[in-house]
Amino acid sequence: MDELICQGCGVTLQTTDKNKAGYTPASALEREIVLCQRCFRLKHYNESQEVSVSDDDFLQMVSSIRNANGLVVHLIDLFDVEGSLLKNLHRIVGNSPVVLVANKVDLLPKSINVYKLEKWLRSSAKNVGVRVKDVFLISAKKGHGVVELAQAIENERNTEDVYIVGTTNVGKSTFINRLIKHSTGEGDVITTSYFPGTTLGFIEIPLDETSVLIDTPGIVNKQQLVHYVSDKDLKIITPDKEIKPRVYQLNPEQTLFIGGLARVDFIKGERQSFVCYFANDLAIHRTKLEKAEALFEEHLGGLLSPPDAETLAILPEFKSHDYRLPEEKTDIVLPGLGWISVPSTGASVRVHIPEEATVTLRQSLL
Ligand code: GDP
Repeated sequence: MDELICQGCGVTLQTTDKNKAGYTPASALEREIVLCQRCFRLKHYNESQEVSVSDDDFLQMVSSIRNANGLVVHLIDLFDVEGSLLKNLHRIVGNSPVVLVANKVDLLPKSINVYKLEKWLRSSAKNVGVRVKDVFLISAKKGHGVVELAQAIENERNTEDVYIVGTTNVGKSTFINRLIKHSTGEGDVITTSYFPGTTLGFIEIPLDETSVLIDTPGIVNKQQLVHYVSDKDLKIITPDKEIKPRVYQLNPEQTLFIGGLARVDFIKGERQSFVCYFANDLAIHRTKLEKAEALFEEHLGGLLSPPDAETLAILPEFKSHDYRLPEEKTDIVLPGLGWISVPSTGASVRVHIPEEATVTLRQSLL
């Protein structure tokens, strides 16, 4: 069979994997104009649907971003900054200006220090080699900050195209759907356009006569916990409303289990409060350090869940990391789950977490 390409975005069509770029049901191949499912949905329902590619494939697709002068909008997830901030973003964007958009702000407690949060986001971006022009905190779901962001994009793009770039699950399709509604009003029909050979898998949404907003496929970052949990567990660990902090007064040699997906041992230090910011439905268990190992061995997947059986089958081995916390209020960030805030007088902790994930420490946001 000759390779078929989507008449909308130019991606090579396939009929086997719904979540990958180029999927179309076999029956659709009979149509005169064949579109991938993503272009079909956008054209007929004005709705963006997320598809994903590996970051290596993505790098091959993006020379058009590097070589254009467009504005890059990098969408990240506030609950998984470490996992959703693209480590090779500078290779993808070249010298194009970048606006960093941190999504899901509706989940954070109202008392959050926005200034510190933005500062941390900027420095996290700088650590991966990206100097961002601006940082925005938004909720694509609730709409907070989206109008302001759309305005800023309009000002900063300087009549150039806009590329929306992000890993899977950051809320990219929710965000694009909001932007579509914002820019067209409901009911208008969007058309996709096809530039042979240049925009493989990129969907273009017209902004004005000469420029477009480009929705790129979501990038799979294997370091994100989302790829190692079942759909059911993902629902439990993904917060869906404002996080209620849970406070544990811990003595040294006590341990907290975050479900069974992470374990934080308080090794040494003065008795102090460990304030936990995780999805309200995610159970936290406190135990004595000396009992923690046995509890983990015996009850992982039972009392300590998630993981459920499906997650257990794919979850990477746990690895431990030792930290001596700085003498200031510090957040221990467990990527994809949330964080624990510790006032700290130089406490020593040991964090156990699936080995693909990277723990970070930051100055406390509260
Ligand atoms: P995509 O894979 O990047 O396209 O992400 P989706 O748009 O499918 O969103 C992934 C998950 O995050 C879904 O469960 C959404 O409901 C949720 N989500 C997206 N945006 C927000 C937001 O602003 N706030 C909250 N609380 N959840 C969001």
